[in-house]
Amino acid sequence: MTIDQYANRFVCDLVAYEPGKPIDETARELGLDPSQIVKVASNENPLGPSPLAKIAMRDALEEAHIYPDGGGYRLRCAIADSFEMEISNVVLGNGSNEIIELLCHTFLNRDAELIAAEHAFVVYKLMATLFGAKYIEVPDPGFIHDLDAMADAITDKTRLVFIANPNNPTGTMVDQAAIDRFMARVPEHVIVVFDEAYFEFPDSPPDALKYVREGRNVCVLRTFSKIHGLAALRVGYGLASKNVATLLQKARQPFNVNAIAQAGALAALGDSAHIEKTRTVNSEGMAFYETALKARGLEFVPSFANFLLIKVGDGDRVFRDMLKQGVIIRAMSSYKLPDWVRISIGTRAQNERCIEVLDSVLAAEVAV
Ligand SMILES: *Cc1c(COP(=O)(O)O)cnc(C)c1O
Repeated sequence: MTIDQYANRFVCDLVAYEPGKPIDETARELGLDPSQIVKVASNENPLGPSPLAKIAMRDALEEAHIYPDGGGYRLRCAIADSFEMEISNVVLGNGSNEIIELLCHTFLNRDAELIAAEHAFVVYKLMATLFGAKYIEVPDPGFIHDLDAMADAITDKTRLVFIANPNNPTGTMVDQAAIDRFMARVPEHVIVVFDEAYFEFPDSPPDALKYVREGRNVCVLRTFSKIHGLAALRVGYGLASKNVATLLQKARQPFNVNAIAQAGALAALGDSAHIEKTRTVNSEGMAFYETALKARGLEFVPSFANFLLIKVGDGDRVFRDMLKQGVIIRAMSSYKLPDWVRISIGTRAQNERCIEVLDSVLAAEVAV
């Protein structure tokens, strides 16, 4: 007899999300100084937060005794302006992960189905499970979402289809033609979610916002966690047609985005210098890795984002062995990719250290 029998079955059965291993925890376990650890496990911005955001957040601390603007007026206006949309199209979330949850709250139940690609971001599956919905996984040959097959998988029970573009952990992207073909086939009762957490990294990403503008049942997710370097703040947003956005607003907690985060995000939105610098460091780092991996004959998936999926043999072991040397990467067994690891692009120094440690770990493996 345990308390579990009184709990919701979907919660009991859930395998909890395993985030990138924290720097502090790693330092504690290894007896190292946290500054000696390189974390390239969670696709964070290696340059740190937007400097403008830091200033705005310090200023916002003075008002920390006042509840935040629950409506997020200033931030939503600025976001709406930047896309030439209305404030009614913008929903703020405690990270874009919360918008995923709000979509599930709004549209899922035990009869509903959610469709995603086989190697899509794992949070979709977690959320579908928590809401008791059926999770439909569509094969993604070459690690690229197969939107034709995803359209084929739509039934009367389908409510949400998630398209992560670029996708995490594969880094692959679907193009405009595939999206347009897909959207031409999507019926009214299906909400299409374009998760664009890495939208700012590729040179010419496809335009999913046009479907929001057309009033289709579409939600585009963006975040301050990646290019803006504000992952700790937990702030992201959804851009949706007014009807969808109005429902999502009802599903959220009244103060879901804190005031410091709102202030930081607002300043980060205008920090184009930080965005440009980050893109440059990322493309230089990507080029470094591609050359280094090719030279070593290591297979990887060409990436449009700020990370790479790399085939290393036993991914769990490579993760553990690199960890011992103070480099945190991500094993991919939870994505059913036990032979692969995911490494985020860092600064030049971080990338060099990471490759050096990867070399030593792979050499040791051969020697065993
Ligand atoms: C990182 C990431 C997010 C962003 O999550 P936040 O909650 O905004 O930090 C969303 N979707 C994908 C696919 C991601 O990789």
